[in-house]
Order: sequence, then structure tokens, then C-alpha cells
Amino acid sequence: IPPADGYPIPGKTTVYDTSAEIDLENAPLSKDSILVKVICLSLDPYMRSRMRKPDVPGYVPPFILHEPISGHGVSVVLRSRNPHFKEGAHVRGFMDFAEYCIIEGDGFPMQSLILLKNDLQLPWSLYVGILGVPGRTAVFGWREYVKPKARGVAFITTGAGAVGSLVIQLAKRDGMKVIASAGTDDKVNFMNELGADVAFNYHTNSTKDILREHGPLDVYWDNVGGEVLDLALENAAFSASFVECGMITTYNSTNAYPFKNMFNIISKNIQINGFLTRTLLEKHEEEFLQIIPKMVGDGELKYREDITSGLANTGSALLDLLTGKNTGKSIVIVNEG
Ligand code: NDP
Repeated sequence: IPPADGYPIPGKTTVYDTSAEIDLENAPLSKDSILVKVICLSLDPYMRSRMRKPDVPGYVPPFILHEPISGHGVSVVLRSRNPHFKEGAHVRGFMDFAEYCIIEGDGFPMQSLILLKNDLQLPWSLYVGILGVPGRTAVFGWREYVKPKARGVAFITTGAGAVGSLVIQLAKRDGMKVIASAGTDDKVNFMNELGADVAFNYHTNSTKDILREHGPLDVYWDNVGGEVLDLALENAAFSASFVECGMITTYNSTNAYPFKNMFNIISKNIQINGFLTRTLLEKHEEEFLQIIPKMVGDGELKYREDITSGLANTGSALLDLLTGKNTGKSIVIVNEG
């Protein structure tokens, strides 16, 4: 992929050895701050948009050159001056891509931290995957924007990924026929395991032909945007629901896709909703916590993890995510829990 202007090419990672910089026993902690050991970190498509110059506007803050990048992760608290996060507690939220870091007591990222109880003793990595933001993205978006129709048709893109693999299972649980696409045959096998009725590799099959044969679509879960969104518009059923979750085909592109079927939004009465997961947190979090961890613990929901060990391999793992080489949730394991 082309390097973001001014940024090192993903794949070459500079590791800032914070264990050398932070005196773990004695580093002074300000009021309410905590010192954590990072266990695992999430790699996500939105990180591509953080690789930009600070003066370029965007919906998430840019990474700052020569400072550690940050993202979602799970850590264990080593030292604490914060009454909410005691020593030994595990937390989920935003943190540096570092072995250890101090999270200051006020503002962000402290505000993003959530105490993990983990009563079911599940692996910590799940809390950046099916029990983290990707899981919530699938569940919140599905609950909020889809009126499932038994035997109706749902089309889900990047169906073997962290979000898409859970959306397939939600659609099947609601009795829908599922068409799902991904970019390798191994991913197609995984989507079949998840219950997809028509799983296909979009590199070796024509999405256009498949949608014509198996549509029209009552639901389109969009993770890719561009040409596939246009094809979904062309093959939408009357009053279809389109969930605009992501547009990963456009994240490296500066050219807008020349849509041909936009007017179908009107003529087919399509309900089209874009969303950011955090905006649905208040409404759906309680239901998520009551239902999803237990289903995962009981093996009722399937997931895959694409694990990379060691911070030094972050760059190449991020490049793999952005070129489709991951199957399932992309995670960097930094330290033992
Ligand atoms: P995935 O685990 O699905 O990984 C990304 C996948 O996208 C790759 O495996 C690949 O799958 C596909 N891909 C990568 N690059 C391209 C490309 N250039 N063109 C086409 N496909 C590509 O990631 P997530 O599950 O974390 O995210 C899925 C989508 O959900 C993303 O669009 C993301 O931005 C969005 N998202 C939105 C959120 C929100 O709040 N709205 C929150 C979280 C995620 P394949 O082999 O199928 O091509």
C-alpha cells in the first residue's frame, strides 16, 4: 500500500523500549494515574486513517511521529494511585503500543478504561475481539439497524474478519439466508463453518453474478464500500436495510468511487445507516454484557484470532490486515497475562 504522506512504510516498526525508560518500581505516578503492563493490542482498519499529517482533518486523531502509536488493548495494573483500578486488576481501553505505560489520571485515555471482571476466565485477547470493539460493532449495528426477516437475504462483506464473522452468525440466528464474501479460499471455508449459505471468494468469483443469482438483498452489511456497495444497491430488495459499518476498499484511495446506482436508495426505499460503535454503547451495552460473553464461553459463537507475537512485528501485522492476509481478529500479543 502507498505510504501515508510523511510516515514510515507499514511493515517497518520502530519499537520504543518503554521498559528501559520507565523505572517500574519507582517511576513517580501522579494522582489517579496507573502503571500498566500491556498484554495484548488490537490492530484495526481505522488505524490507517490515523497515519496522516496532524493538520489533515479526520474523525480520529492522527498518530504523532516519533511517539508510540496507541490503540485498544488489555493491560494489567502494576502500580496504582487510582481507586478504581487497583494493582492486579485487568483493564481494557486505549493505551500505547508499548510493553509498559503510565496512563495519566485525567482525560483521555484514562476515560476509555474499563475494569475487566472476566468471571468466565476467558482469554484476555477476546476482550479486543469478539468481547471488545469488533464484537460490539457487530451486535450493536445489527440490533440497531436491522429488522431481520426470516428467510430474507443478508449479504455480508469481509465475512471472515473480526466484525463480519460475528454478523454472519447473528444473521443466521435470525433465520436469514446469508451471502458472505472474503478474499481467500481459507476464509470461505471459515464462513461456511459459521453457517453462511453462499460463501464466496470475491477474487475468483463475480460478486455481480452471485448477487444477481442469490439476491435481491434485504440486508447489506457493508465493510468495504466502493464497487461492492454499488452492486449491493443494484441488487437491493424494496425497503432493504443497508448498514454502513466500514469502507475498507477506500481507506488507501484518494479517488471517490463513481457510483451508478445511488438513485436506488430512493426508488427502492432503502434505509441506509452509518454508525460509530461508541455512539450505541449506552443503548446496547447492558444487553451485550448479559448475553455475548456467556455465549462465547459456552462455544455458541465462533471466532478466529490472527495472532502476532511481539511488538516488533506490529508493522507487518498491520500491513497484513490492510491487504487482507488476516483471518479473524488481528491481535498483537505483547506480554503474558
Ligand atoms: P477485518 O478483520 O475484517 O480485517 C480487514 C479485512 O478487510 C481484511 O481481512 C480483508 O478481508 C479486507 N480488506 C483489507 N484491505 C482491503 C482492500 N483494500 N479491499 C478490500 N478488502 C480489504 O477487520 P474488522 O472486522 O476489524 O473491520 C471490518 C470493517 O468494519 C472495516 O471496514 C472497519 O473499518 C469497520 N469497523 C467499523 C466500526 C464502526 O464503528 N463503524 C468499528 C470497527 C470496525 P477480505 O479477505 O475479505 O478482503
